[in-house]
Amino acid sequence: MAQDRRIEPWSALLDAGREDGRLVREAREGPGRAKLVEAPPELHPDVLEGLARVGVERLYSHQAQAVHASWEGPTIVTTGTASGKSMCFNLPTLDVLCRDARARALYLYPTKALAQDQARALAEFGLSRRVRPAIYDGDTPREARGQIRKSANIVLTNPDMLHLGILPNHAAWADLFANLAVVVVDEAHVYRGVFGSHVANVLRRLRRIAAAYGTEPRFLLSSATIANPLELAERLTGLEDVRLIDEDGSPAPQRRMSVWNPPLTDEATGARRSALGEAAELLAQLVREGAQTICFMKSRKGVEVLSRLAREHLQDDHPELAELVVPYRAGYTPQQRRELEGRLARGELMAVITTDALELGIDIGALDAAVVVTFPGTIASLRQMWGRAGRRGRGLAMFVAGEDALDQFFCRHPEDFLERPVEAAILDHESPLIYRGHLLCAAHEGPLSNDDGVFLGPRWEAHAEILQSAGELRRRPAETGGPSGPDDREDTTRGRPARSTYVLRRPGGYPAAEVSLRSASPESFAIVEVSSGELLGSTEAARAHSTVHEGAIYLHLGRSYEVRELDLERRRALVAPFEGDWYTQPKRETDTEIVRLLDRRETLGVTLSFGEVSVTDTVLAYQRRRLSDNAPVELVALDLPPTSFPTQALWFELPVGAGTQPGGLGQPGWPGGVGDEPGEAIPLDALLGALHATEHAQIAVLPLMAMCDRWDIGGLSTNFHPQTGAPTIFLYDGHPGGIGIARTAFVRFEELCRDARRLISECPCSKGCPSCVQSPKCGNLNEPLSKAGAELLLERMLGEPAAIGLAVGASR
Ligand SMILES: [Zn+2]
Ligand SMILES: [Zn+2]
Repeated sequence: MAQDRRIEPWSALLDAGREDGRLVREAREGPGRAKLVEAPPELHPDVLEGLARVGVERLYSHQAQAVHASWEGPTIVTTGTASGKSMCFNLPTLDVLCRDARARALYLYPTKALAQDQARALAEFGLSRRVRPAIYDGDTPREARGQIRKSANIVLTNPDMLHLGILPNHAAWADLFANLAVVVVDEAHVYRGVFGSHVANVLRRLRRIAAAYGTEPRFLLSSATIANPLELAERLTGLEDVRLIDEDGSPAPQRRMSVWNPPLTDEATGARRSALGEAAELLAQLVREGAQTICFMKSRKGVEVLSRLAREHLQDDHPELAELVVPYRAGYTPQQRRELEGRLARGELMAVITTDALELGIDIGALDAAVVVTFPGTIASLRQMWGRAGRRGRGLAMFVAGEDALDQFFCRHPEDFLERPVEAAILDHESPLIYRGHLLCAAHEGPLSNDDGVFLGPRWEAHAEILQSAGELRRRPAETGGPSGPDDREDTTRGRPARSTYVLRRPGGYPAAEVSLRSASPESFAIVEVSSGELLGSTEAARAHSTVHEGAIYLHLGRSYEVRELDLERRRALVAPFEGDWYTQPKRETDTEIVRLLDRRETLGVTLSFGEVSVTDTVLAYQRRRLSDNAPVELVALDLPPTSFPTQALWFELPVGAGTQPGGLGQPGWPGGVGDEPGEAIPLDALLGALHATEHAQIAVLPLMAMCDRWDIGGLSTNFHPQTGAPTIFLYDGHPGGIGIARTAFVRFEELCRDARRLISECPCSKGCPSCVQSPKCGNLNEPLSKAGAELLLERMLGEPAAIGLAVGASR
């Protein structure tokens, strides 16, 4: 429309993309009008005054709804980016603190920067007589800590500090726990997977300790848009009847969403121009047209390269603009971030390029355009990044696809991309290794007794018994202490079991120190920077051999390191900053042993099972590949012992004889009555390639249902598994114990197969490529893979006739 053209600086760019086919999909959303309502008059007069002080006359409807909901019970708010979610929990909290001088609140943030932003927002209410917020984290000076414990009535901290510092020392925090009225969990969607499974346990311990001090705090949560906010809130807190506020009353800008695919450079291999190169040109064009732009990339290296390329484009024709394109670096202080925000607001900067460090709700305001380069892993985070576009009531939200399977999948199905419900956040607080670690922490915080089922779940005692036989816990009979009083003893005479309690076997221990909230297993390897001795992080022992073997290129917070030494005895990897132009891929041999069958059903002509497995991995070698074109450079042998870990898996067996007998897999009618046409048999040598490619495709699309990374999932395909006696594909949780990903795949298996089939059959390549069946993490270095075989297999399973040209050529 002509009018749009005049006011939107991206019109010409979109026109060009529409013409040459790079713009594969456009959609519009908004504008939406704000729904404004009066602030609930029941709020304490001081809070209402504070609202006026921060310039808020009326509330968005969801904010008022959240206040009312929070008076009734636990509440989760999931409205859009920049919709004023903080207000939803700040108002009820401030209200409680103004009414009760002794009341305390605890705010949990996943990062320090977010806690700092929130402390500032709270201070702006100007309620300093009644409200005393303080940050309590690893950076808090020792001398300030006593004062915070005594006097702060809003303590802002992170789950790690709560787990490691506050709960184990609850006696020092007795006043906080005895008056704890509100617990705020902001950015709750971050607590998923391994981290979420831990935090769910930390919050249960928190409820347990609060109860010991006689309080039952109200939980208020907020989350980005996810598919299952209520479920997430209930799984995280262990509470029921959580209230959901998800009708956004904030004004929505008019936003153009666009999916952009770089042009093909080689039809045969399906190679395209790199997303980086394409994005640099787009970014330069947007800046020339006067659109302030934020650009998101996964790696820091990518951020640097993109900034440089975009500046080079501008240098030629608009050198004055080149200076206004800046990379955003992690580790900025709140002051530096506010300065950046100020420069953006004053038009002194035209573009910021960042890793997802900025994604987590940090307040730099909205810009004209938000460009996301390559798929950020989840649609939920893509939406959050896109939410940055829309300054002055209109914005451009763009996605530039890379070559990865999901990127290209969405380019072929942009409707899915734009309309698909976002993913579910999955966690499992009862993942056994995680759960037992926290059970020990809980025992340290107070003897475990029958009363704990309310907080720790009904199966706590079964786990406690296991810990007892492992020599970690000791059972203390009822007679020798514990909480049992005379009344209890009377009860036990009537046949009720004695109230025994469990305590730590070693009372001097500090189990919280053994549990890292980022790792599924207490057994981990430290990753140490070799020259500074700085501890960068840790990795699960089960993954150490494949991720930090000698020579591995290791990515940490977007920065690359090369592993100089893997010290198996001292359990650490020494790494050094890496500037080279290659990455590494391990070559492994994997075995799975079925330990326990938990569930089974017949579907799509296969036997589908879910259960516990033991995965044994031997890393044999690694391949160096060039970053620019992924070409293999060198294969380096390694000498590492096998490692095993327990986890959860789904597996499905093809009918016995499928593929191993003439006509097996291709038998007419297998599996779901394909019809009476004679099917083509998959020859035995192609069977493994078909299974392997199917496994890869299923792993590639699984993150669409369970918010996880393909690196969180493992797979194994074999044409004969000794325990099933049949061709079998396993998909397993990549973290020891499992965190619910395989279970989700088991429940939604049919959907998984349909998505995998679309991923494969619609990819224009002829023999399989990184956009369909090849996997960047394959332990077999993508050998053997049969795209056609996988296509046929999935078609047979889904009961759809093979389309022309898709039949297995190899069999003819
Ligand atoms: Zn392909
Ligand atoms: Zn593989």
